[in-house]
Amino acid sequence: MDIKKVHIVIPIVMAGIIGYLGTKIMDIKKVHIVIPIVMAGIIGYFGTEIMDIKKVHILIPIVMAGIIGYLGTKIMDIKEVHILIPIVMAGIIGYLGIPHISWPSSQPVRQVDLDETSLVISRQTDLNEAFSVLPSIPHISRPSSQPVRQVDLDETSLVISRMSYPQPFVDKPQRTDVLLMSPWLAPIMWEGTFNRDILNAQYRQKKFVVGVATFAVKKYVRFIEGFLGSANKFFLSGHRVNFYLFTDHPEKVPSMKLAPEKSLFIIPVQNYSRWQDISMNRMDIISNRIRTHWHYEVDYLYSMDIDVQMFEHIGVEIIDTLVGTISSWQYTKPRDSNSYERRPESRAAIPSGEGDFYYAASFYGGSVSEVYKLTTACFKGVTEDRANGIEAKWHEESHLNKYLLYHKPTRLLSPEYYWDEELPRPQIIRVKRLSSVRKDLEEVRS
Ligand code: UDP
Ligand code: MN
Repeated sequence: MDIKKVHIVIPIVMAGIIGYLGTKIMDIKKVHIVIPIVMAGIIGYFGTEIMDIKKVHILIPIVMAGIIGYLGTKIMDIKEVHILIPIVMAGIIGYLGIPHISWPSSQPVRQVDLDETSLVISRQTDLNEAFSVLPSIPHISRPSSQPVRQVDLDETSLVISRMSYPQPFVDKPQRTDVLLMSPWLAPIMWEGTFNRDILNAQYRQKKFVVGVATFAVKKYVRFIEGFLGSANKFFLSGHRVNFYLFTDHPEKVPSMKLAPEKSLFIIPVQNYSRWQDISMNRMDIISNRIRTHWHYEVDYLYSMDIDVQMFEHIGVEIIDTLVGTISSWQYTKPRDSNSYERRPESRAAIPSGEGDFYYAASFYGGSVSEVYKLTTACFKGVTEDRANGIEAKWHEESHLNKYLLYHKPTRLLSPEYYWDEELPRPQIIRVKRLSSVRKDLEEVRS
């Protein structure tokens, strides 16, 4: 056994019993028994904390008890023989106690190969037959015949260096005017609720690369400069970012000097006559590009409109497995009066009475694999709608909203992360990190 406090308790209790019986038959007072027991308790407790238990550790309490007992006979009315009996008993108990106590060895006695593949009993064995007699009990897990995960146990753990910052308190929420957590416990990013220095320190060690997919087709090339100029300054400042710009006019991309940790990749695409198709086909292009390239190039991927500019930092607080941005147009509306597609014929349909937030298609993202699943599923919905001669109310945004209703995002960005320029800014929007650029819709989409 390991040495635990219980090993100390047993001798103390035994000593107590012996002592008590001692008072019955001998001329000693109970208080004379209590002192050695307390001393033994203290010695034993510290002994387990600071030392390996060896025979000598049993001897020390006995010697201590002897000294106490001897001094006791000087000042109290007890005879030396009364002290000898408990000491001899303690010696016997201690001696018998030793064999069942395992000593910590200085040499490892086992060498477990953590990388060894685990031995798994195949499904055809008797064990499985034993399980098969309990088919109606769904909460019993059956042993799988294949290992399902491979966790790298040797990965070095990330440590944050010492830093000073205001202490958090559980009874002092950072903000009380906004929702900080969705009902499925996805945090919602709001100014004043997080410490960017801590997030940066944590993130920097992971050496992630983030990709940003953005499209500038036809007249939207005019937005490239404003987008890239502001993103270079405010988007994941100090961290590695690859901007992937899809355009039908590569020659019109202005030459811009980006920060050393930022890169721009220009990818030619065809244009479509309808602006809705340009917007919707982004899902297809992103999904294909993940499969062929990004899967190997980036860890996280975000899709952003090009007709936006950033005015404040958008940092690593946006990084998570599946991330949606709450639209600035409908963040306080009841679910049945916002812009979901409700027609059941569309693949984007959300039945009435359902819906969490209304998410903006202008900014979403997450891990490469989650964004792959999202864009693939949304574009499948778009394709099926096309085949059925229907187009969802807000195009790919409707499909995105349906997807995020049934695949809950792990993190939400507040409307600070996509604040529509046309809207007056209420008090709860303390910063405008990203805003759409005002545009003449008729003109720019023609
Ligand atoms: N887009 C484009 N060319 C077009 C129409 C759209 O490149 O002619 C791309 C561009 O990246 C744009 C996005 O599709 O930001 C979404 O379209 P838009 O910004 O017009 O939609 P809104 O934000 O007004 O809903
Ligand atoms: Mn836009």
